[in-house]
Order: sequence, then C-alpha cells, then structure tokens
Amino acid sequence: MQDFRQFGKTAWAGSALLALPLVLVAVLAATVLPASGARLATLFLIYVIAVLGNQIYSGNSGIMSFGHTSFMAIGAYASALLTIAPAAQATALPALPAWLAALAGQPLIVALAAALVVVLVVAAIFGLPIARLGGSAASIATLGLLVITHVTLVASTDFTRGSQTFFGIPRGVPMALVLGCAVAAVVIARLYRSSRGGLALRAAREDEIAASAVGVNVVRLRFWAFVLGALLCGASGALLAHFLGAFSPKDFYFNLTFLMLSMLILGGITTVSGAVGGTAVIVLLVDILRRIEAGGDFGIVTLPPVFGLTDIGIGLVILIVMYRLREGLFGVRELDERLGFEDAVTPTTQPAPVVPPGPGNLKVENVGKTFAGLTALEKVNFVVEPGLVTGLIGPNGAGKSTLINAVCGIVPPSSGRVMIGGQAVAELAVYDVPRAGLGRTFQNIRLFKNLTVLENVRVAANSVARPDEDTAAAARAALAIVGLSDLAARIAATLPYGAQRRLEIARALALRPRFLLLDEPAAGMNPAETDALMEVLRRIRAEHQLGLLVVEHDLKLIMRLCDRIVVLNKGQQIAIGTPDEIRADPVVIEAYIGRKRAAPPPQTPPLGPALPAT
Ligand code: ADP
Ligand code: MG
Repeated sequence: MQDFRQFGKTAWAGSALLALPLVLVAVLAATVLPASGARLATLFLIYVIAVLGNQIYSGNSGIMSFGHTSFMAIGAYASALLTIAPAAQATALPALPAWLAALAGQPLIVALAAALVVVLVVAAIFGLPIARLGGSAASIATLGLLVITHVTLVASTDFTRGSQTFFGIPRGVPMALVLGCAVAAVVIARLYRSSRGGLALRAAREDEIAASAVGVNVVRLRFWAFVLGALLCGASGALLAHFLGAFSPKDFYFNLTFLMLSMLILGGITTVSGAVGGTAVIVLLVDILRRIEAGGDFGIVTLPPVFGLTDIGIGLVILIVMYRLREGLFGVRELDERLGFEDAVTPTTQPAPVVPPGPGNLKVENVGKTFAGLTALEKVNFVVEPGLVTGLIGPNGAGKSTLINAVCGIVPPSSGRVMIGGQAVAELAVYDVPRAGLGRTFQNIRLFKNLTVLENVRVAANSVARPDEDTAAAARAALAIVGLSDLAARIAATLPYGAQRRLEIARALALRPRFLLLDEPAAGMNPAETDALMEVLRRIRAEHQLGLLVVEHDLKLIMRLCDRIVVLNKGQQIAIGTPDEIRADPVVIEAYIGRKRAAPPPQTPPLGPALPAT
C-alpha cells in the first residue's frame, strides 16, 4: 500500500468538507425531521454510497458503467439471504441448500461484510475482461453485466424467489451504520481521486496513449477502480435492501441504473463533490415530482395524477442542465480545489530532475516497419548518445514519427530492435518504456486536457518515483525547466499553444528520462515561441546529460541545435552526419530539392525552408 501522504492535504480537507453535509443530514433526520423527511434522508445517504461507487469507476476512467447496479443487486440479495429470519426463510425459500439455510438470522453488519466478499469475487471476475476494454466497448460490456446479473437473479428461484418479491428480512437500517458507510464512501472516493492511481486513471481518461507513454498501466488501474466502485455499490445495495424490507430483481435494473447515472451526471461525473451534490438534487427532485405525479390538493391548485411525470421530469432536468453546463452542476473541480486548498510544496531548492546515470546509448538497430504492405521504415540504424542532440529530418511521410513510435513500443517494429544499454526497449509493454529511460512528446500535442498543468507533469513523476517520494517537488522542478512554474494551477487545455508544447516536454522530463524524443516540438509555433523553445532545449542539453532526439521540419532550427543529424526519405535512412556534412550531402539535397529540378519550381518549398545553399 502506498504512503498516506500521497493524497495531500487537499484531499483530506475535501473529504471532511463533503462528509460534513452528510453528518448534518443524519443529525437532522435523527432529531427534527418528520418520519417522511427522515426516510428521505436515509435514502439519500444510501444512494450517495452507490453514486460514489459509480463515480470511482466511471468518473475517473471516463467509461460510463451501466453494470455497477448489478453489484447493488448482489449486495442486496447476498446480505438478505443472511439476515432473513429463519421462520420467514422456511416459507419464502424452502429450496435453499441446507448450508446456506443454516446461516440465516445474522446481524446486518455481518451480512454486509459477507455480501462485500461476494461482490468482490464477482467484480474481480467481470472486471478482468472489462478492464481490457475502453470507451463504448467497455460501456456495452457493463450493460451486458447488468443484463446477465438480472437474468441470473430471476432464474435462481431457489435463492431469490425469482421475479417474485423477496421478503422476510428485518426491515430498517441503523442511521449510525448508514452514515458511517456514507462517510467512508466519501473519504474513499475523494482520496482515491487524488491518489497516484486515481490521478493516473484520470490522465488515461483524457488520453490513453499519452498516459501509457508516461508509464501508466491503464488496464490495471481500470480493474481496481472497477472493483472498488463495485464494493461501494454492494454496500449500498445491502443497506437499500434492508431499508426497503422487500424487493425483487427489477428494483435493481434499468430504472435504478438510470437514477444512479442521473445523479452522477447531473452533479458532474468527474468529481466527488458532483456525485454528492447530484444525489442530493435528484433525491429531492424525485420526491417533489412523485408528490405531484400522485396528484391531489396543493393548496393553490388541485392536480390530477400525471403518469410518468417523475421520469420525464428527471430527463428534462438533465437535458436542461447538460445544455447549459456540460460538466454538470458542480463542474470538473472539487469543492476543496475551488476553495483554494493547496498542498504545500517544498520550494524548488530541490534540484531539477536528475538523469540517473546509466550505461550506454540508445541504439536503433536495423529497425523496419511495414503497415499492410506499405514499408514505412527500412533498416534504420543510428545511435543517440547522452549529452548530444541528434536531429531526425526528412520530407513529410519519410517515417520520422513512425520511427519514434517504434522506439517507444507504441508501434512495435516489424524488424530490428531498439536497445538502451543491454535492454531491448521496443519489446517492453508501452507503459514500461519510460522506466527503461525514454521520454517523448507527440507530433500532435497529447496533453491531459482537463487536468491542471501540475497534474499533467505529476502523472509522469509518479510513475518513476518511489512510493514515499514527494513528487510535487519533482513535478514543479520539471515545470521550472520549461518556464511554466507560474501556470501550474491552470487547466492544461487553457494554455496558449506554445506553452502546451513546452508542457509536453516538462511532462516527459518528469520521467527523468535518459533519452528524450521530441516529435516536431516547434510545429505550429510562431517565431517567438520557437525561440523560447530553443532556449529550453539548450538549457536541457546544457544542464542534464540526457540524449535528445529531435524530429523537426524547421531546418534552420535543426542546423543550429544538433550535433548530429539522421536523414530519412521514404522510410530509408539516406544520410547521417554533422550539420555541415548533411548540408553538403548531395543525396540529401536531391531528396529535399531534387524534385524542383524535375518539375516547375513552386514559389516556396512545400516542405519547410530548403537547405541553405552550399
Ligand atoms: P513523418 O513523420 O516522417 O511525416 P510518418 O512516420 O507519419 O511520416 O509516416 C510514414 C508513412 O507511414 C506514411 O506513408 C504514413 O502514411 C504511413 N503510416 C504511418 N502510420 C501509419 C499507420 N498507423 N497505418 C498505416 N500507415 C501508416
Ligand atoms: Mg511525423
């Protein structure tokens, strides 16, 4: 288990902040509220637990789960089988196996614990395949889980009475237990969101490829979030069963799923504050709409019963809120984050990320890549040395990005290998490549857009840090190198273009790489931004002994910056040498401007500035 300090003060403060209204609701329910109000308060606290369970998985992974209601059902039935009164059991479930029948009459807390064990097992079994899926495929798989669970419960008549009502369990839940579970759920969800795993999962939600490239094992994180969320839903289901006293499988099917997701989406799926707030709003809304739906005398007006008003009403409210506030009522930032709680960071007396001394160069050996018949790379051979800048140039489509992707294992090479010291890199899982000493940026910027600048960098710092290490300081140091210290708290998507490019470099630097691969870092930059970038690259090269591989279209920039240049054309490595050698190489000139001789010369070279005349 990782150190508790990793969560930071913010997450603890946020937990307390959100637990407070729950305690208040419980106290009101126990003292001043009338019976109907107390019932509503209890229901709110029970729902909050399940909505938080959904938030842990769906909110952090970005995959909408329709399946977590299944775990409420499993929690409900598993606990009810244990708390059911022996006399009622004989009537309601005469065919129950003897060993299970003998367990009847347990206290709720024991049944709750046992139900969580059952939920854990089922969640682990379904979580393994579902975690491998992303996006809508995963959502559909969770929908499958919901249907499978429902059909299984209906079919298991000996255990569940099938689609008939399950009855005979002691009705009523102690408020202390409900409150305890709700507060625990808030703390778990809020701490998880700020934990290293939670942050990494949120990063993967923003960009899965970029997250893997900074060392995030997305599948593993999805699995644990799935299981943790399931446990919360299971606890909620067990409490709900005993709150209701009698229920059937349809009570844990689409309607409940719709209700849970409404609460989550209305409040804002990405935050714990949103989950709690959305639950409160929908519980109240449903109560009001139900009263109106039933019709009757409301003082000023008398209304007839309106069938379906509640569901239609919720649907409309969600539609309106989503139309006006895409991120839900509570937005993408937690309450505590809005209130400006900030974790103290040891000031930057800490040295910038140091490149761990490691033997050897980055060797690209005979690397080739074919895409369905198209040879994008063929027999590329060169070496990137620590402390030197190697340029990789070539016309559009020459295979430069493919080479970087092949080196990082994102597009495994079809032939050849990539070595750092004695280690073959391209064969590693993509998320292990950073730990082998490689950091990279992408030709098309891939930031974690809805995370802050500091969080973007921190994801990377976390994945190479020891569990007890304070990575905020390392992340800040990486930001200082690229001149983004002042913008640490900004949401990444709001940065100007040039700063976004530099943030990507900072994120890669936070991996403490021995080799840094930059794919067209100056693309789309104006001259001022390019100058700022050059300054950064020079500083990195001067102060850190890391090997830089820079892909660039801007030949002036490449000639100024590089110690050595590799030239690709149509997947072939056509030259390698110092800037002066490359400038004078007839083959290179041919590749870049040779076409101008064959065809009428265009006004400006189509591939960026031509080589200076030799
Ligand atoms: P560069 O970065 O030098 O402009 P790329 O490496 O992006 O060139 O592309 C090299 C060649 O490989 C191009 O012809 C491109 O169309 C092809 N290519 C790149 N990625 C893929 C892919 N995933 N599938 C098929 N072809 C690809
Ligand atoms: Mg490219």
